[in-house]
Amino acid sequence: MLKWCGEMTEALRRSDAVSRIKGIGEKKRERLAAMGITTVEELLAHEPFRYQDRRKLIRSDRIPEDRDVSVGGVLVSKRNRPLAARKSLLECVFRDEGGIFQAAFFNSPFLGRTLVIGTRYVLFGRMKRRNGLRLFTNPELAEEGSARDQRGILPVYRKTSGISSHEIARWVKTALAEIAFEEDWLGSVPVEEHRLCDEAFAYRNIHFPADERSFGVARFRLLYERLLTYQYAVQSSRRERESGTRCCAVEDVSTEPFLTKLPFALTEGQRAAIADLERDLVQERPMNRLVQGDVGCGKTVVAEAAIYKVARAERQSAFMAPTELLARQHYRKLSADLEPLGVRVALLVSGMKSKERKELLAAVAEGAIRVVVGTHALLQEDVIFRDLALVVTDEQHRFGVNQRRTLAGKGSAVNVLVMSATPIPRTLAATVFGDMDFSVIRSRPAARKTIRTRVVDRSGRERAYGAVREQLAQGYRAYVVAPLIEEAEEEAERASAVKLYEEMKQKFPGIGIGLIHGRMEREEKDAIMGAFAEGKISLLVSTVVIEVGIDVAEATIIVIENAERFGLAQLHQLRGRVGRSDVQSYCYLVNYSGSEQVAARMNAMVEMSDGFAISEADYRLRGAGDLMGTMQHGMLPGRSEELLRHVELLEKAGCDAERILNGEEGGERKTSRKELRRRTAQLSATDNSNII
Ligand code: ADP
Ligand code: MG
Repeated sequence: MLKWCGEMTEALRRSDAVSRIKGIGEKKRERLAAMGITTVEELLAHEPFRYQDRRKLIRSDRIPEDRDVSVGGVLVSKRNRPLAARKSLLECVFRDEGGIFQAAFFNSPFLGRTLVIGTRYVLFGRMKRRNGLRLFTNPELAEEGSARDQRGILPVYRKTSGISSHEIARWVKTALAEIAFEEDWLGSVPVEEHRLCDEAFAYRNIHFPADERSFGVARFRLLYERLLTYQYAVQSSRRERESGTRCCAVEDVSTEPFLTKLPFALTEGQRAAIADLERDLVQERPMNRLVQGDVGCGKTVVAEAAIYKVARAERQSAFMAPTELLARQHYRKLSADLEPLGVRVALLVSGMKSKERKELLAAVAEGAIRVVVGTHALLQEDVIFRDLALVVTDEQHRFGVNQRRTLAGKGSAVNVLVMSATPIPRTLAATVFGDMDFSVIRSRPAARKTIRTRVVDRSGRERAYGAVREQLAQGYRAYVVAPLIEEAEEEAERASAVKLYEEMKQKFPGIGIGLIHGRMEREEKDAIMGAFAEGKISLLVSTVVIEVGIDVAEATIIVIENAERFGLAQLHQLRGRVGRSDVQSYCYLVNYSGSEQVAARMNAMVEMSDGFAISEADYRLRGAGDLMGTMQHGMLPGRSEELLRHVELLEKAGCDAERILNGEEGGERKTSRKELRRRTAQLSATDNSNII
């Protein structure tokens, strides 16, 4: 009896370690941990980034080009042909009701030996028409009806080193078969009101959708969970702020010495925003303000004015940027502007030498350093301020509500200033940033010219680089952005950037060319960025690391390769890297796709320069596509800027969160506060996952 009990395995729970899932050994456990997956729940939350529709076999004469499809056929002939250097090519011919089609496999002599003529196989891949032939190159292949012949809507997970999409799919499947979901944490009211499916259904269908409808239903529930958590976080933070009667007032010292030293006249929007901040700072109630303005409108100087005021009042500020690159840029700028006025500025990033770090922390704790610029390294526990009065975060959408709070918690009474280029409709702003006041900068520095944007295809690519040559000849600088490689690992992204870099060296001999990608060491990235800012390098090849906030005024042209792979908002951010002075700037979008939908997106970029309009167009254009299309694009949004797209549900979730906080929800079972708080605490971590 006892023995029998011992053998019984308990059902899998969401909080269990992933290693409880069959097939995950020590090595894989480590790899998963590196991806941030340690529990069953985290594995289930790792969503596919697209799906393959393998539900039906398509007749070979009806296959659309450039799309992955399943096709079935009887093997008619096979031939393995040796190529040079111990390579070989296996050529197969299949037949189905639609006629004859071919498949080519490189270096697969073994496969060649196992295939049997006259047997029916199922192929999955992309077909090309070449000289009247229908050809698949290296498709997946399985004998029809065998275990490997998978049908249905199958998930594709982002590849990471050491773990394939297939492995993840297998583990998820195992986990879903064994997991026992406890009582629904959402409680009865939201589930009934919004007609939400249960968790088991949601997870099963987000990974292995039974059909489009089930996918939609699953996605809706998971989205609601996220929006509710988000709203709960925002609203509880507002309540905390309102209930606190802490004194935050900063002494009202003049910012004139800083403002008069600026090399330019402030725009009206900047002046108004600075006035808002100055008013907030001298009040008892802590400031909590969002300064919103399109890329290039000049938000940094607004923050600097506030920082200066705080420093002159002999108190401290922390300035947090989403990436190290940006932190360093802000540091350079702030120290150049403020040190001459007697304000000490320091940079705190991860990976500093421990002695250096210790000294810096001591000076911060003493209050000798008034301004600390950094990344989320600023959030670490050992960072203690003597008298922190202001926290600034740049490009807010990359930071979670909690991070802001953690940082704000470092002072007894802290004013919070958030800067963002993400356009947020005013109606929504109240819901999303229910805890903040707003300053919107609509004006741009007067003499700025609209960036001339052009779209070229493969054949027009050289024109783009011709334009780069012209700009370089005039002494300006250029960015070339390497393609975003979604499916592949960082390594492939690096490889494509390196290839582009080599090409540029060939194209522009004698020009200083630099390369930046995500895999590089911090120092190296910084050195290259610095060299570009100083003009020692004139052409910078880069992956999307430069997306947010980089500011080099002499850069007048940007070429974006494979622009079709970027979303509109991202293209707008990238384009915003040029046009940062009064000189005419240019943006070339190299589009390798023939799709009409892409063409419409590119066109939107040519016609529009206002971030607000672009984000609306983005929504419209993306909202259009068919379901498989939407299943291929943005899945469940992780970043708060994507959460913003779901206006209606967001508002509902806002009401629900309020009800929960007021303890006014009825129903049989209440929403689990404990689970909500746990999820709220995780928000910052997920929000961070997109930081490059
Ligand atoms: P963003 O709002 O995108 O963060 P930045 O603060 O980086 O923009 O400013 C972009 C550039 O414009 C900087 O080089 C900055 O010095 C410059 N700038 C800011 N305000 C003005 C102004 N009123 N007139 C001219 N240039 C300005
Ligand atoms: Mg900025």
